[in-house]
Amino acid sequence: MHCPFCRHTDSRVIDSRTTDDGSAIRRRRQCPECSRRFTTLESASLTVTKRSGAAEPFSRAKVLAGVRKACQGRPVTEDQLALLAQRVEESIRAQGSAEIDAHEVGMAILPPLRDLDEVAYLRFASVYQSFDSLEDFESAIATLRREHAETTT
Ligand SMILES: [Zn+2]
Repeated sequence: MHCPFCRHTDSRVIDSRTTDDGSAIRRRRQCPECSRRFTTLESASLTVTKRSGAAEPFSRAKVLAGVRKACQGRPVTEDQLALLAQRVEESIRAQGSAEIDAHEVGMAILPPLRDLDEVAYLRFASVYQSFDSLEDFESAIATLRREHAETTT
């Protein structure tokens, strides 16, 4: 990390902390040459590999776009969607890998979406888990029903 004052090519980290949303690390640095201090914001990189093999940085906006489509016509607010996207990102980052499959992003969306809205969840799951028959829907619904029964008894 270059010193922004004297362009010295090295600096010493004197403090680091994670930002509130967990997506970046804020570092307090000091230049060993001129002793001045500065702050850097480093985002921990998270790369999503698509089925085509192309890689792109993880984007909450993309998660939101996919989930929003599944939530069309459902009583779901923008705040709830934003919170869901945050939960998805946190759960992916908690796995600790810097590179994940696009498919895993889809899978990470399922649990919080199920908590949020079951109809939207079924729509989303039907795409991500490639439901191709009524039986797939039936078994997903049966699973939801079973879990309802378990939580109410
Ligand atoms: Zn310096």
